Amino acid sequence: MKVIDSIEAFRALRESWTREGKRVSFVPTMGYLHEGHLSLVDIAQNDADCVVVSIFVNPAQFNNPDDLDSYPREAERDLKLLEDRGVAAVFLPTPEMMYSEGHQTWVTVDDLTQRYEGSGRPGHFRGVTTVVTLLFNIIQPHSAVFGEKDFQQLRVVERMTADLKLPVDILRGPLFREESGLAMSSRNVRLDKVAKEKALLINQSLFEARRAFQDGERSSEKLTGILRENFRNLDNTTVDYISVVCEDTLEAVETAPDKGGRMLTTVEVHGVRLLDNLALE
Ligand code: AMP
Repeated sequence: MKVIDSIEAFRALRESWTREGKRVSFVPTMGYLHEGHLSLVDIAQNDADCVVVSIFVNPAQFNNPDDLDSYPREAERDLKLLEDRGVAAVFLPTPEMMYSEGHQTWVTVDDLTQRYEGSGRPGHFRGVTTVVTLLFNIIQPHSAVFGEKDFQQLRVVERMTADLKLPVDILRGPLFREESGLAMSSRNVRLDKVAKEKALLINQSLFEARRAFQDGERSSEKLTGILRENFRNLDNTTVDYISVVCEDTLEAVETAPDKGGRMLTTVEVHGVRLLDNLALE
């Protein structure tokens, strides 16, 4: 596995792959890898000859400096996991390399970024779409894999790729859960035992709502009410949002459609923002 920390070195490797006619698939990450990330690597492996993983905690998508500073990092362990998974190259850029002095060019997606993760975090999606574009330009992958864990981000990247006619196939990776049902996240290490128990109510509520949906319930208010009710009297937790949305447009709907609906939520538990979502089917 090649570990590459300069754009020039990566470009040289990429050119050799082009000469050899290799198909390249890419998995962008912020590191502190878990099985959720590695499941995306497996999807990339099935799609291509060479898999590239980037590890970059992108400052442009954090609007809270404390969150950026406390984001967990463990490069050595990450590299070992990726090597064991047969990854061809890991790209480790620095912020200075990605945002060179005088940087003033940004990529923005309008409507899809205004809600949910976008509304309380100004600039977040602009940071995501800009770094994904930069990485696509450097890595030049044929395909890239994004997790359904960050469903809004996935839709934003799909929209951007289609709108800008970027020659990259976007592949979706299903949300990977811990055995307990909690959505795997690098941020889960910041949850102590009590917080983790509260966090489990997120996935439990979503699955309860899905059962209600399967039993015929279509009212978004009733479906989202299940999670709200479960968190109503819990201290140190805040439901940022819980919505039933149309998967395509991410617009909130009052009545869940029979097909193509999804519940999206973010709950803050003991200061840790936890995202989860579940298709209503
Ligand atoms: P991150 O390192 O959190 O920026 O995530 C990198 C990629 O891994 C994104 O496409 C995420 O959606 C995806 N990802 C993170 N956690 C999971 C998970 N539990 N299941 C599936 N994909 C995930």
